[in-house]
Amino acid sequence: MSVWAQRADRLAALVEEQRVDLLLVSNLLNVRYLTGFSGTNGAVLIGPARRAFLTDFRYLERAQRQIGDYDVVRGRDDLLEQVAELVRDWDAARVGFDDTYLTVRAHAKLAGHLTDAAELVPASGLVERLRVVKSDDEIAAIRRAAELADDVYRWLISDFGLVGHTEREVAVAMELRARELGADRLSFEPIVAAADNGALPHAEPRADVQIPRDTLVVVDYGVVTDSYCSDCTRTFATGDIDAEARECYELVRSAQVAALEAVRAGAELRAVDAVARDPIAAAGRGEQFGHGLGHGVGLEVHEGPRLAPTAEGTLAAGNVVTVEPGVYVPGRFGVRIEDLTVVGPEGPEVLTSIPKDLTVV
Ligand code: ZN
Ligand code: ZN
Repeated sequence: MSVWAQRADRLAALVEEQRVDLLLVSNLLNVRYLTGFSGTNGAVLIGPARRAFLTDFRYLERAQRQIGDYDVVRGRDDLLEQVAELVRDWDAARVGFDDTYLTVRAHAKLAGHLTDAAELVPASGLVERLRVVKSDDEIAAIRRAAELADDVYRWLISDFGLVGHTEREVAVAMELRARELGADRLSFEPIVAAADNGALPHAEPRADVQIPRDTLVVVDYGVVTDSYCSDCTRTFATGDIDAEARECYELVRSAQVAALEAVRAGAELRAVDAVARDPIAAAGRGEQFGHGLGHGVGLEVHEGPRLAPTAEGTLAAGNVVTVEPGVYVPGRFGVRIEDLTVVGPEGPEVLTSIPKDLTVV
């Protein structure tokens, strides 16, 4: 059975659980996950016994050749008229749609095409529930992305350097290097943040500030290869740093290592977060760690599951999550250390290989 047929079967089971007759999948990443389709206009309509893939004439021929596990249906423009036709042909009464992605405008239009016999029912997050557990092939793709990102880090440390470059120059050089090494693109706008800029967890690289000596620099970036993302943060020193910066670095490093150890199938999401958060709070810096411990990574760089104080649920084998505690001292510096890890049946497999001892660049 193909991977697409397996995913379709698993989704069809969730659709049945939701007590809807059909689910409309309109988000393109979810469509890609289900069918492998990588064009810009496609949708899936799936029920326990029926599955159709809709696209417009530009992609029709390719889809008919490549998408074997779905009936391929030609639609016009927004595909909604054809969705409504299939709903009628298949006698569906309750049609699930993803209210996270379907716009109000598309919803109104689709409702207008449907007969009174059919009702639109919000059913969000079903494909995402499948996506949190990765197959071996998906893990292999994420591993390749993580390795490529590590190669760029090694090049940054030993060849390109930090001091004297602007933050923006470093970000651009890393992107260029990643593409030279075969990355499709970066998985998000990279963060290169020296000194006080590092105290902003989502700092933008500055084009007008050269990275000075004797400070900390937070570098956070990832690449996309074969559609899958990586995500890794390191905090480097550019010479001598003061006692407080050193203390914060050690605090974050030891919290990060402890939390990685706690990543295993069955562990409570909030308990893993607490393993890193508790020692940081005990050091009086709980207020300086204002974000969750980590997030899932896959087709998107931020997806489920979330490791956070308020997160519900447990980790499962096949989840791929980041572990990234940080301490941000306003006006002075920031420290964050982030590894990507696979939740295996016997514990975590860390995909990041860049050392975590304080490295002077
Ligand atoms: Zn990151
Ligand atoms: Zn991250």
